[in-house]
Amino acid sequence: MYDLIIIGSGPAGMTAAIYGARAELDMIVIEKNFMSGGQVINTYEVDNYPALPGISGIDLSMKMREHCDNLGVNFVTDEVTGVEDLGDKKLVKTVQGEYEAKAVLLASGADHSRLGIPGEDTFGGRGVSYCATCDGAFFRNKTTAVIGGGNVAVEDAIYLANLCEKVYVVHRRDELRADKVLQKKLLSLDNVEMVWNSNAVRIEGEKKTERLIVKDKFTEAERTLDVDGVFVAVGIVPNAEPFNGIADQDKAGYFIAGEDGATSTPGIFVAGDLRAKSLRQIITAAGDGANAIHAIQQYLLH
Ligand SMILES: Cc1cc2nc3c(=O)[nH]c(=O)nc-3n(C[C@H](O)[C@H](O)[C@H](O)COP(=O)(O)OP(=O)(O)OC[C@H]3O[C@@H](n4cnc5c(N)ncnc54)[C@H](O)[C@@H]3O)c2cc1C
Repeated sequence: MYDLIIIGSGPAGMTAAIYGARAELDMIVIEKNFMSGGQVINTYEVDNYPALPGISGIDLSMKMREHCDNLGVNFVTDEVTGVEDLGDKKLVKTVQGEYEAKAVLLASGADHSRLGIPGEDTFGGRGVSYCATCDGAFFRNKTTAVIGGGNVAVEDAIYLANLCEKVYVVHRRDELRADKVLQKKLLSLDNVEMVWNSNAVRIEGEKKTERLIVKDKFTEAERTLDVDGVFVAVGIVPNAEPFNGIADQDKAGYFIAGEDGATSTPGIFVAGDLRAKSLRQIITAAGDGANAIHAIQQYLLH
């Protein structure tokens, strides 16, 4: 039986693995993808991770993995399908088998919901982004569109309006779902134009994003917005499905835990984007990973 099984090798899982290896825990990291890095692999450029400005997502992922490998971390390529709590023993079920551990760290991250429209994949990292905090600075003095109407979309639009010459907010309804205070702030900004009752239908350009085509849901008339960037903020989904019910979750499915990552179930810890929290970034995921190992060490002494 292992001391610890870490599920996922994004920044949270890999940071936990680094701290766990240095603490000489008997552990494995189970990752379903052939590459480690999680969402970071799909990030064209990371410009807000300390000391590594402008590093590509792939390079950052590989550096983290190399760090783990140098410490002798044992990675297993497999997909976790469930975790069972048997008190002092946890059973981790995978596509290929079963593993036992005294503690489990859930670090399976989250996925951004996608629009599923033509051009979204083609221009991913070339104007199409799912993270304004991460990529907004690349669009200084340019024109962008935010798609969505919830808190994240409105916060993103306010953030971008500070940087960009103009920001369109494309929303499929005639009113926003975001908190009133955010709505008020957004609607007071001179360089923001609301595009109500409209769906994004295509993203076009030559080598990078140049146009967003939207369609009025009542008249079906298409309108072309000349934009350099499209920020998709139509939701984010936690990768929680295999673990649902193992510990308390919020209504969106994120696992509830403080900074130490301890969930409502003893021995089950959570780190990174899967944890209920307000800022989902590489640095906060890494911080979670470190904090969780500290708490897991205490737990293993009990
Ligand atoms: C396009 C994009 C750009 C971004 N840009 C930035 C940026 O510039 N700066 C920044 O700080 N943040 C950025 N972020 C956010 C950042 O990538 C995330 O906050 C961070 O990766 C979260 O780390 P994590 O380890 O919690 O989860 P993830 O990175 O999501 O990693 C989770 C890992 O778990 C694995 N996994 C999931 N389910 C299972 C399972 N059942 N079994 C086994 N393995 C499983 C996944 O394959 C994945 O490797 C960006 C996100 C996106 C999508």
